[in-house]
Amino acid sequence: MKTLTKNFNEGMKKILKKEKKILIVGHNNPDGDCIGASLALYNLFKNASFPYLSVLMPSDMPDFLKWMPAAENIDIYEKGKSEKLIYGADIIFYVDFNDTSRTEYFSEELKKSNAVKIMLDHHPEPSSEVDFIFSDTETSSASEVVYRFIGLAGLEKYIDKDVSTCLFTGIMTDTLNFSVNSSKPETFRVVADLLSYGTDKDDIYDKVCNNFSEKRLRLVGYMVYEKMKTVSDLHYAYMLISKKELEKFDFKNGDHEGIVNMPLTVSGINISITAIEKDDFIKLSLRSKGDFDVNALSKKYFNGGGHKNAAGGRIYKPYNEAEQYITDSLREFLTNK
Ligand code: 5GP
Ligand code: MN
Repeated sequence: MKTLTKNFNEGMKKILKKEKKILIVGHNNPDGDCIGASLALYNLFKNASFPYLSVLMPSDMPDFLKWMPAAENIDIYEKGKSEKLIYGADIIFYVDFNDTSRTEYFSEELKKSNAVKIMLDHHPEPSSEVDFIFSDTETSSASEVVYRFIGLAGLEKYIDKDVSTCLFTGIMTDTLNFSVNSSKPETFRVVADLLSYGTDKDDIYDKVCNNFSEKRLRLVGYMVYEKMKTVSDLHYAYMLISKKELEKFDFKNGDHEGIVNMPLTVSGINISITAIEKDDFIKLSLRSKGDFDVNALSKKYFNGGGHKNAAGGRIYKPYNEAEQYITDSLREFLTNK
């Protein structure tokens, strides 16, 4: 589904003026697409000599993204400090999320701000609380949406290697290295354009995918060997892991990325879930193949959402009750009992 606010192009040309203070905002636990799309906008406006630019994320990004061009300019939310950025902005870009609740810590401030709000996203059901929406659920990633936005706003001449590197990283990570959400020829046309700016695909792959700690690889082995459980009659797998276990592997933000996809490599497994104990809740990642809709599953049982084949969620229950809750929920969801 594509949502494009009427008069979007004219609106952008009127609003995007150099004297405006621009704030670019991503979602909690930002991933490669969120960071890539946000930093692409930052670098683009910098190239276009916009002097007032900020990027604000609700929480820190994984280490394997910290090399990205201008990543050092990202502000991580700090209570009492970041509010000034939000209330001082004339224009706020919502990047890679469809509802202010995804910013977790500053959604009330975003709602109260008088800035013009522009959403650039690819999640279903974009919230109408913004002034301009460019959202396309059929698009690989928010980074692909940002590439198209740049065209609509007439800003192509400011794309350089840094902008294209950010966008390429976003598309590559959100399509799991072009294995999902990337069947449209248009995505590859965008990628071909991006490579023409000198973006080094192999270098990006190496920095993103071959940059983990030894302990993280041992965590992958532990989770697959010790923690993965499969429910073969319902064709799903899950891995539930406690904080204490994670501490043995010096677990850091981003270390679990990718692990949730591994059970889907098993023939006959259609849904995979990782459940990671945090301080106040259990964080779920859900992935699926084909028509199994983990967005609907997470919305119904796990206080979350996302896309049909990739969603996140939370369980607000003691750790020792989580397994039963997951298996009961999946049985109910998959058998409609
Ligand atoms: P992840 O498993 O990587 O945290 O999330 C997978 C996908 O679901 C991403 O597109 C992410 O933006 C989205 N997502 C993660 N958590 C939530 C959530 O709590 N609510 C919604 N609506 N989407 C989420
Ligand atoms: Mn994202």
